[in-house]
Amino acid sequence: MYDKVSPNLNFVEREKKTEKFWEDNHIFQKSIDERKEGEVYTFYDGPPTANGKPHIGHVLTRVIKDMIPRYRTMKGYKVLRKAGWDTHGLPVELEVEKKLGLDGKEQIEEYGLEPFIKQCKESVWKYKGMWEDFSGTVGFWADMDDPYVTYDNNFIESEWWALKQIWEKGLLYKGHKIVPYCPRCGTPLSSHEVAQGYKDVKERSATAKFIVKGEENTYFLAWTTTPWTLPSNVALCVNPVETYVKIKVGDEKFILAEALVEANFPDTEYEVVEKYVGTDLEYKEYEPLFNFVTPDKKAYYVTCDSYVTLTDGTGIVHIAPAFGEDDANVGRKYDLPFVQLVDGKGEMTKETPWAGTFCKDVDKEILVNLEERGQLFNAPKFEHSYPFCWRCDTPLIYYARDTWFIKMTDVKDDLIKNNNTVNWIPKTIGEGRFGAWLENVQDWGISRNRYWGTPLNIWECECGHRHAIGSIEELKSMSDNCPDEIELHRPFIDAVTIKCPE
Ligand SMILES: [Zn+2]
Ligand SMILES: [Zn+2]
Repeated sequence: MYDKVSPNLNFVEREKKTEKFWEDNHIFQKSIDERKEGEVYTFYDGPPTANGKPHIGHVLTRVIKDMIPRYRTMKGYKVLRKAGWDTHGLPVELEVEKKLGLDGKEQIEEYGLEPFIKQCKESVWKYKGMWEDFSGTVGFWADMDDPYVTYDNNFIESEWWALKQIWEKGLLYKGHKIVPYCPRCGTPLSSHEVAQGYKDVKERSATAKFIVKGEENTYFLAWTTTPWTLPSNVALCVNPVETYVKIKVGDEKFILAEALVEANFPDTEYEVVEKYVGTDLEYKEYEPLFNFVTPDKKAYYVTCDSYVTLTDGTGIVHIAPAFGEDDANVGRKYDLPFVQLVDGKGEMTKETPWAGTFCKDVDKEILVNLEERGQLFNAPKFEHSYPFCWRCDTPLIYYARDTWFIKMTDVKDDLIKNNNTVNWIPKTIGEGRFGAWLENVQDWGISRNRYWGTPLNIWECECGHRHAIGSIEELKSMSDNCPDEIELHRPFIDAVTIKCPE
């Protein structure tokens, strides 16, 4: 019934023979044509990037992604398998920058956006042939003759359509994302760049006394390693489940974590007046430490978040949403105002008495200021590892930049509900890793201040009105200056204006 398998069988040769047989006889196409009446099962390949070579890891994913459509085909489904190419993004830009000998956004803009993105477009096909050969060799079937390409107008248009749906549901918004930022270069750094520039430095930290509203001589104690962020403070944060105490020392009372009293009051006589769990303190108000600005939303109260630990400090953290990722998360959770008294050059803004001074250089003056007003509890020196710019040796700051977000936190319940209907194999992935990720889902920052990607479909008017465009047709219907053959990329799209519906 079967041929005997020769012990000298050449597997490679046999594979090549099968591959050739499939090709000569158009077996893939036939597998679709012969099931014209069959129920449709659609597969879109999660697209690889063809500006990098395929590697051994891709064999596994290609094989798995072939197995399921093949199984469905054998069950009688008509299986459409659409190949795709991922062509946008920073890696492409960096590749082109390297090739052209450019360094950074300034030089790219000098070179010109139009020729730059033309180079990007060519660069992404560098290894297309290799990918096609490789896919054939591992027996991966997909329609490679008519793939979807993420830089094509029709693909970008489909993204615009989706973004407009999200916009109309109120789930797309402009907010702030905290990035490691070099104030001299005026640019955020990637985590890889940040990792290159750590140095051990000795600095002054501050434990500040925040006056509890309506209580005499009573203070929240909060420790910070960055005193220059204190003028931008809008809230305090405690761990919701830890124990806090109010202690009396002389005629002053202090609120801090029970576990950190000894560390902050060594050899001091004190009396515990009250005990709380963190949540008891939630929404308790205090007097602002500085009065440089009047926030546009409710501020200066205690918030709760489990990121606060009792490893050092006082167990109470000062929150400045403009200067820390955790702070920004708490800010979003409690809808806190956004106060940023440091500008893009890293200098204090004109609202403060230190206008024009580099933020880290005002630490000392802030300590003196607090001391004079009796609101400095302590200013211990501490040593830590701090990141510096690898290009220019300036200390980096964590700084909020304008970013567009999709409000994932608003659809969290749906995400979890849907995840629970997925037949995960193995089950633990869905419940464990992916489930845990969904439980802690954050709003998704989708924008980049770059060139080679899908342009955001939001047009902003001087009057403040924003309009989301969902298609080229809609764009043309609202615009007087949209060319017939518009390419949906920068710099072309930047020149198109629309009439404000308001
Ligand atoms: Zn720099
Ligand atoms: Zn308008």
